[in-house]
Amino acid sequence: MRIEEVADGVHLVRGSAVNWVLVVDGAAVTLIDGGYPGDADAVGASLAALGRGPGDVVAALVTHAHVDHVGGLAPLVARHGIPVLTGPVEARHARREFLEQAGPADVARNAWRPRVLAWAVHAARLGALREVALPTTSGVAHAAPLDLPGRPVPVATPGHTSGHTAYLLPGAGVLVSGDVLVTGHPTSRHHGPQRLPAFFDHARGSLAPLAGLDAGVLLPGHGPAWHGTPAEAVTQVSRREG
Ligand SMILES: [Zn+2]
Repeated sequence: MRIEEVADGVHLVRGSAVNWVLVVDGAAVTLIDGGYPGDADAVGASLAALGRGPGDVVAALVTHAHVDHVGGLAPLVARHGIPVLTGPVEARHARREFLEQAGPADVARNAWRPRVLAWAVHAARLGALREVALPTTSGVAHAAPLDLPGRPVPVATPGHTSGHTAYLLPGAGVLVSGDVLVTGHPTSRHHGPQRLPAFFDHARGSLAPLAGLDAGVLLPGHGPAWHGTPAEAVTQVSRREG
């Protein structure tokens, strides 16, 4: 686990396979995503490294309800009664009223691809095959700032999942892009802004909702922080995909 403060109070935590974000304002913390089930202790350790604890987390925001983003959250939420928020469609996904996630069969079909098998073994060790739900998740409106540390603005970014929601932190100039736009992944040999391999996506969405956002730092669900505007990142993806 590595923690990098990319803007005042905004910390990117890089777990062994997925990222989460801690936004600190005084004692209070907004947690965005929370790793695989096997990352639960690391999420707690990341809070401790900033001198905070689970009791300081006033809300957990979810970009999308895949097991690598909510698995480590579930025990914290259950134990400490932390409210979980995301866009209205993704809230239903988090409550597991439906499931849009690549399963073992999708991974097996793609295991011939370089790096996919090694990634799948590591992911399985982190609990990728466990069933996780966040039954208390509430849906919030898109485009309106939330009264939480960082004043995060949920941005509808459907594609990777139907209800995928990115978060803009306007004061810090940071965009938390989840998995619609990443900067690296164990199954990819590319560095820099890119989309995940298509088999991870429920549908290929448009990156247009990101392009107009005012930010200078991108914090993706996978890969390192990237410095530049969302528009520049989207341009790089388009160029790469030709
Ligand atoms: Zn992910």
